[in-house]
Amino acid sequence: MSVTAESSPSPFVRDIELITASDDEIRRALDDAEIAPLLPALAYLTGDLTVLREDLRPDPLLFAMPQAGLSDEQAAAVRALALETLIRYRDDGSRPAPAPSDGQLLQILEFTVGGVPMAPYLPLLEEELAYRGEDRRAPGWQLDELAPGVDFRVLIIGAGMSGLLTAHRLQQAGVPFVIVDKNAGVGGTWWENTYPGCRVDNPNHNYSYSFAQRHDWPFHFSTQDVLHRYFEECADVFGIREHIQFSTEVLSAEWSDDDLTWSVHVRRADGTEETLVADAVVSAVGQLNQPRYPDIEGRDSFAGPAFHSARWDSSVDLAGKRVAVIGTGASAMQLIPEIAPIVGELTVFQRTPAWIAPTPDYHDPIADGLRWLYAHVPSYSEFNRFCIFWAMGDGALANVTVDPAYGPTERAVSEMNDVMRLLLTEYITAEFGDRPDLLPHVVPQYPPGSKRGIRDNGIWARTLKRDNVRLETERIGAITEQGIRMADGTEHQFDVIIYGTGFKASEFLTPMRVTGRGGIELHEQWQGEARAYLGVAVPGFPNLFCLYGPNTNIVINGSIVYFSECGVRFILGLIEQALGSGKRAIEVKRDVHDDFNEQVDEANSKMAWGFSTVSSWYKNDSGRVAQNWPFTLLEYWQRTQRPDPAEFDLLG
Ligand code: NAP
Repeated sequence: MSVTAESSPSPFVRDIELITASDDEIRRALDDAEIAPLLPALAYLTGDLTVLREDLRPDPLLFAMPQAGLSDEQAAAVRALALETLIRYRDDGSRPAPAPSDGQLLQILEFTVGGVPMAPYLPLLEEELAYRGEDRRAPGWQLDELAPGVDFRVLIIGAGMSGLLTAHRLQQAGVPFVIVDKNAGVGGTWWENTYPGCRVDNPNHNYSYSFAQRHDWPFHFSTQDVLHRYFEECADVFGIREHIQFSTEVLSAEWSDDDLTWSVHVRRADGTEETLVADAVVSAVGQLNQPRYPDIEGRDSFAGPAFHSARWDSSVDLAGKRVAVIGTGASAMQLIPEIAPIVGELTVFQRTPAWIAPTPDYHDPIADGLRWLYAHVPSYSEFNRFCIFWAMGDGALANVTVDPAYGPTERAVSEMNDVMRLLLTEYITAEFGDRPDLLPHVVPQYPPGSKRGIRDNGIWARTLKRDNVRLETERIGAITEQGIRMADGTEHQFDVIIYGTGFKASEFLTPMRVTGRGGIELHEQWQGEARAYLGVAVPGFPNLFCLYGPNTNIVINGSIVYFSECGVRFILGLIEQALGSGKRAIEVKRDVHDDFNEQVDEANSKMAWGFSTVSSWYKNDSGRVAQNWPFTLLEYWQRTQRPDPAEFDLLG
C-alpha cells in the first residue's frame, strides 16, 4: 500500500494539498476531527507508530459517539499529539513516509480495531480503502486478448448504484454492454425516493464506490439530492451515460438453449415494445423498488390523496392538512419529522417500534476543519472509511449473533446483545422520559439487530412530542372514504394518507418474467423462495447474474456498495472463466447452490434477525430470511474473489 501526494485515482478527489497552515489553523481544524481514524492515519502517514497510544485508543463499539466515546481529557490528548505530529509533517515539507511494511500496517489496523487479528483483512483493505493508490478491483483482463474476435454483449437491467458499477467494470474489460432502466434518469433508489428528509443512513465515506471516493461530502449522511448527483457524476465521468436506454422497462427475458443468448423484451416510454439480444444479463434492479401497499380492507375507498413514500406526490400540498402516515420504518421515520411542522395534524400509525440509535451528527454538515483535514492529511479519509467499515460491519457482528449458552430470548440473543439493548433503552428513556404516555410504546420488545435500527439525533422524540402529532399504536381495522377506522371501531378522519409501508423485497426480479434453460421460469423455480449462489448465480439460468440478489443484504449497516463491488468482480470472473475456456456461457451447479443455501439458512438462524419472531422485510412469506448475509464481510469478499471452476458448468 502506498500513499503519495501526487496520484489521485478518484475523479472526485483532488490531490492532497501541502500543509501551509499555521499552528493555530491546524489546531482549529483538529477541533472538528473525527477522532477514531486520527492516530492510525498519522501513524501511517509518518511511519511513527509511537503515536498509537493504548490509553488514547477509542473502543470500536463507540466510534459513532461524540469523540468516539473518549473522555474530554483523552480527546484533548489525541488532538495535542496530532497537532504536534502535523506540525512536524508540515515543517518537513508535507512528505509522507514510505509505505509501511505489512507488519507495521497490521499494527496500525489492529490498534484501530482494539486488537482483533487483521492479517486476513489486509488484501481486502488494500482494495477497499484504495489508499490513494490504484483501483485494485479493476478487472485484470481485456476481452480482445482473452477471446480475440469473440462478440460478447451484456445487457444490464438498472442504472442505479449496482448497474453503473457493472457498466464501469465491463467497460474496463472492453466488454460491450447496454443498460436499460425503467426510470428517466440514473440513480435507482436515489432517483425514485424523493420524499422529504430522504438521506443515506450509512456515512458517505462508506456508502460510495471504493474507486470513486470523495473527500468533500457536504454531510456525514448525505441527502438524496447529493447522492443522486454523485451517481449522475459517476455516469458521466466514467462515460456510461451514452450506453443507457432510459424509460425502458424490461418485461421478460428468455434464454435460448440453441443460440445461448438472452432475448430481453422491453417496453419504451411511448409504449412500443422491442426485443434486445444479449449474451449475458446482469440484473441490477435492487431489492427495494416495488412499493408494498398494506393489505388493509377498503384501501382504495379513501377519497383524498394517498401515496407511498417511494412514489412521493409533491403536487399534494400538505400544509395545514390532517395527515396519516402508516408505518415507522426507515423511510417513514425520515419523512415524518420533515412534514410534522408543515401539516395541521399528523397521526403516526406504528405497528412495531424501531430501535433508535444515537447519532448526534446525523443531519450535520461536515465541519470546515474536518474538510481541511481530509484535503491535507493523506490517508485520513481512508482510515475514516476503514473505521466505519469495521464498526458497522464485522466489528459489530458479535453483537447480533445468537449465543446458545446465554439462553437467547426475544429480549436479547447474547450478553453483548443485551448490553446493546440496555444502552439503547437508556437512550430512548432519556429521550422520552418526560412523556410516560409515549415511553412504553417506543421501546422495542425484540432483540436489537432483528430489524433495521434507525439513526436518531433527537429528532424522533422531538417530533412525536409535538402538539400536532399523535402516535397511534392500536390495530388498523379498515381504510374508509374519510380516513381510517381502527379495529375497535374508532374513526379518524384524514385529508391525506401516506404509506411508509416498505417494499416487496422478497419478490426478487419481479414483475419481470425470466425463462431459463429448458423453458423454466425463475419465479416458478423459486416458488416464493428466492435463492442464488452468493446472491449472484441461479442454477438453470446460464449467464444470468444478479446483484443485490438473495442473501446479500446487511442489517447492522455495512455498505451495500461493498457487496455490489464484490458481486461485480465475481460476475466479471465468471465471464472471464467462460470466454477464457472458449465457451460462451456459465451456470452454477445445483448442488453447489443448494449446499451454499443450506449454510446460509443455518447461519441466519443463529443471527438476531433469524432468531427473533418479529416481522421484518428480511423474511419472505414462509419466514425464511431471504435477504441477509449472515457471515462476515470478509467472507463475502473471499468467496467472490474468483469463481472456482469446479462449481460451474460451461456451455457452448
Ligand atoms: P420497512 O422497513 O419495511 O417499514 C415498513 C413499515 O410499515 C414498518 O413500520 C411496518 O410495520 C409498517 N407496516 C407495513 N404494513 C403495515 C400494515 N399493514 N399496517 C401497519 N403498518 C404496516 O420499509 P422502509 O421504511 O421503506 O425501509 C425499507 C428499507 O429501505 C430499510 O430497512 C433500509 O434498508 C432502506 N432505507 C434506507 C434508508 C436510509 O438509508 N436512510 C431510508 C429509507 C429506507 P412492522 O414493523 O410492524 O412490519
